[in-house]
Amino acid sequence: MDINTIRNQFPVLDQQVYGKPLVYLDNAATTQKPLCVIEREREYYLHENCNIHRGVHYLSQKATEAYEHARQTVADFIHAKESREVVFTRGTTESLNLLATSFEHHIINEGDKVLVTAIEHHSNLVPWQQMIQRHHGKLLVVPMDDNGVLDLDCYEELLKESPKIVSIAHISNVLGTVNPVKEMIGMAHQSGIPVVIDGAQSIAHHAIDVQDLDCDFFVFSGHKMYAPMGIGGLYGKTEWLKKLPPYQFGGEMVDTVSFEKTTFNVLPFKFEAGTPNVGAALGLETAVQFLQSLDRGEVERYEAQLLLSAIQKLSEIEGIRFIGEAEQRSGLVSFIIDGIHPYDLGTIIDKMGVAVRTGHHCAEPVMTRFGIPGTVRASFALYNTMEEVDIFVNAVKRAAMMLR
Ligand code: PLP
Repeated sequence: MDINTIRNQFPVLDQQVYGKPLVYLDNAATTQKPLCVIEREREYYLHENCNIHRGVHYLSQKATEAYEHARQTVADFIHAKESREVVFTRGTTESLNLLATSFEHHIINEGDKVLVTAIEHHSNLVPWQQMIQRHHGKLLVVPMDDNGVLDLDCYEELLKESPKIVSIAHISNVLGTVNPVKEMIGMAHQSGIPVVIDGAQSIAHHAIDVQDLDCDFFVFSGHKMYAPMGIGGLYGKTEWLKKLPPYQFGGEMVDTVSFEKTTFNVLPFKFEAGTPNVGAALGLETAVQFLQSLDRGEVERYEAQLLLSAIQKLSEIEGIRFIGEAEQRSGLVSFIIDGIHPYDLGTIIDKMGVAVRTGHHCAEPVMTRFGIPGTVRASFALYNTMEEVDIFVNAVKRAAMMLR
């Protein structure tokens, strides 16, 4: 893996902020986009732009073919059985809202339960919470220990309360914990309970095989895996997607319409009402091809080294407290330093050119669990370097000295 060749594909990284070279460590929020992805979207708007599925003319057919090809590429990437198991959405949040709404209309009855965990992003919490509250039901929450590891004994007990669905993050966006999702899916399936995996933080870092995981649904965002914003996906097993009712209504998702009655289109179109973001879907396909062009095992090992180095070097700082110390961690490190507000630290290192995220990271219950207002979070991508890790750690050390 030649890091310089890779970095050359990300011109945005090659800039100065406040007179310092940019060190971009906010990849869990969104990754930068390689030239090939930007070019693909540009190419679409320059030469191929057209509404899809509805036209008999050349451009429309070409755009339709390209869009459906992108769906197949994404399906292969996550090892789905068929391309119709992949629904294009705006991203993880929309995919989860789609599922919560469809479950509400088909599966959920008064007083039912949904199971999530204590580490969820608001996107995998609030849609379920709001939905279940409308039915006077209950949200079951798997607790975690002080290291940010889920309590699987408790999970087993909560499954006995027969939730209608389980929805869990593959990797925590605050703690970096890699949850044992395969095992958790197996446990839920023993009781016939379907499982959603929130893959927002895993898909860019690890190869995903939905058949091997045996998850019923897998949701993700393109913009966190080098693709454009406004595109993402929902994978669902065919049997589930067939069963669930549509989420939004309008053009494209219908079969026949009269004033009395509407019948719905086949999969996956039933879940894609209205004109989709075709250009972004093509950009997502190119991002997938970009990842496929690399040795993903090597990328995984490289990113693990970046993380390990950051953790080891940060550990030297007096008063540092890591938030999330699970053995299985990936992609990011979160921490606070005694007596220093995360926001102040983040603001000062920004002036040194280092971009990290501070705050609750859309996971307020995690902050409450640890009794903190927020953390500083550094998250890594395949274009980051060991030198950047050093610049980051030195910036944190200097900022801590200034703020004490
Ligand atoms: N789930 C997790 C674990 C996340 O990290 C995020 C975003 O940070 C989301 C869901 C929401 O993703 P999006 O805003 O792309 O819909």
